[in-house]
Amino acid sequence: MFARQIARPQARRMAQGTKVLSPEAHNALQSRSSTCRVGKGVRFNSTQTGQSSETKNDNSSSSSKPSSGRISSTAAVVMAGGTLTGLLGYYLGDQNGSKRGEYYNPQISANSPSGLNENYGSVDDFQKAIQELRDTFGGEDEGKVSNDAEILEVHGFSENDYHPGSSPTVVVFPASTDDVVKIVKIANKYKMPVVPYSGATSLEGHFRAPSVGSICVDVSNMDKILEIHEADSDIVCQPGIRWMDINAILKKKGVPLFFPIDPAPGATIGGMMSTGCSGTNAVRYGTAKAEWFLNATVVLPNGEVIKTRRRSRKSSAGFDTTKLFIGAEGTLGIITEVTIRLAPLLPTNVAVVQFPDVRRATEAVVEVMNQGVGIQCVELCDDDFMRSTNLYGMSQRKWPEKDSLFFKFQGPTPNALNETAKIVKAIAEKHGGTGFQLAKTEKEATDLWADRKNALYSGLALVEGSRGWSTDVCVPVSRLPELVYETKKDIQQTGIVSTIVGHVGDGNFHALLLFKNEKELEVIRGLVHRMVERAIALDGTCTGEHGVGIGKKEYLYDELGAGTVELMKTVKRAIDPHNLFNPGKLYPAEPHPDSNRPSH
Ligand SMILES: Cc1cc2nc3c(=O)[nH]c(=O)nc-3n(C[C@H](O)[C@H](O)[C@H](O)COP(=O)(O)OP(=O)(O)OC[C@H]3O[C@@H](n4cnc5c(N)ncnc54)[C@H](O)[C@@H]3O)c2cc1C
Repeated sequence: MFARQIARPQARRMAQGTKVLSPEAHNALQSRSSTCRVGKGVRFNSTQTGQSSETKNDNSSSSSKPSSGRISSTAAVVMAGGTLTGLLGYYLGDQNGSKRGEYYNPQISANSPSGLNENYGSVDDFQKAIQELRDTFGGEDEGKVSNDAEILEVHGFSENDYHPGSSPTVVVFPASTDDVVKIVKIANKYKMPVVPYSGATSLEGHFRAPSVGSICVDVSNMDKILEIHEADSDIVCQPGIRWMDINAILKKKGVPLFFPIDPAPGATIGGMMSTGCSGTNAVRYGTAKAEWFLNATVVLPNGEVIKTRRRSRKSSAGFDTTKLFIGAEGTLGIITEVTIRLAPLLPTNVAVVQFPDVRRATEAVVEVMNQGVGIQCVELCDDDFMRSTNLYGMSQRKWPEKDSLFFKFQGPTPNALNETAKIVKAIAEKHGGTGFQLAKTEKEATDLWADRKNALYSGLALVEGSRGWSTDVCVPVSRLPELVYETKKDIQQTGIVSTIVGHVGDGNFHALLLFKNEKELEVIRGLVHRMVERAIALDGTCTGEHGVGIGKKEYLYDELGAGTVELMKTVKRAIDPHNLFNPGKLYPAEPHPDSNRPSH
């Protein structure tokens, strides 16, 4: 995440770079890049592309600074890549039932595994598209169009997940809705896939470039608040602004309001809307799928611009087209402007309490939530997590290494907060809770909460030199203990070291699974698969908040049923008949082969 935060501004600066790849060279780079980055010296052979594995020195990834070593290895691959490009083009043309040089065939390719169109332009077409992008937006020096090797790589891979990846052919940095329209019209003319990109914190391979090549549309320069309507508790903003920056700007301006949806610190409004995200505040404020996004301006795959509705708090004028784009993962349109609702900033305080086991902790949460007291967040951290927090060394205290609940209370006055704390303490103790600790000062509250927020970094402290796979599932709250119990048992049997944290008030549970080599990574893939199957069997979902991307799409038939998945595909075909927008994500090919579960 921090690597990405460093990478974003650097990526913008690097758009002024000099190492430009032709589409042919890009394809050669793709062949190198189809191996997934799994950490220092670790090899992972992409199963998706069937291309060869390669060691990647991960030192480069903590910063996107150009490194001469990497560039020269790229150059070497580029030189060797000409022949491969031709072969790759032929292979893809053959797969699609038409040569890639041919123009778009409006019939859906019969052998498309997802049932969506896969007839794209040729390498030649893509070359023309890039030239037209440069004619429209200026050359590399103008900073809006880049196929610098480093920029391509930053936009095609993620440090946050372990899905097979590839780089886009070109990256464009639009500054306005008009710019996005121009890009999309060029993409349409040459039938070149388009992948929207923003904060780059998503966890399921959401912005991986399709292997045929693509235009990555990086909206991170569209990062302004355009209007603040304090009396209406809303703002109009661009999609590339981070939620944390919105809250910092409002605070600086003395506006006593905030945007309460809180995924990764680097996440932006466009990406958050597109993944249907949430975070620790969801128990009080709901998710991106609640009514926080009032309207959106969207560039559709044909280049048409729509605004989904006006700014009024509510509207019953037809069905909710704003929601169509929430969780669509950039497959239906590019969001270029959004009106978001804000909530009043209220005083908060933090408490922590330990339990004999997860079941007792969850039972306490169910009872607390039914009291209607002011709970902004309630987070479950398992005994391994508490141990990792002690090891990590950033905590102000040594914690009992037991399953624990972290509460954030919220209320209009200090008295209201104390009243809530009293009620919660009594309920916790009734369910076996011990050591209830309520922060006495604002600083203490911040310190306590920091221990929960450091989850990723403290978790990694359990195994020196390890990397972590983070995944989430969600079940009805009452089924959470069963899910956690079975999953912990499964993890222990494999010998994989992990921590578990959960937005327990929502039944949403995250595991951080640690690995040091490819063998352990394979074990983790199996664990994640079983965790998802378990959650769906408990009437839950394969993802409570991270979204589908590449990583979870195989579970959608199981979870949603064929009728619902086919409805999603029907909408996709209607809006994006050429399947230009973010192909390969969200829409599954076919039911998972292991699945024999009937539709719900
Ligand atoms: C350390 C860490 C903690 C996290 N914690 C949470 C958490 O608590 N809760 C949670 O829900 N998630 C969490 N996440 C995941 C991530 O923060 C969310 O998925 C977030 O919503 C992604 O936003 P982004 O701006 O980074 O989007 P990106 O990663 O840039 O893109 C995500 C998707 O949105 C599409 N997209 C981006 N911009 C646009 C646009 N303008 N128009 C159309 N489509 C677009 C992309 O094509 C892609 O499919 C965490 C991730 C990390 C690394």
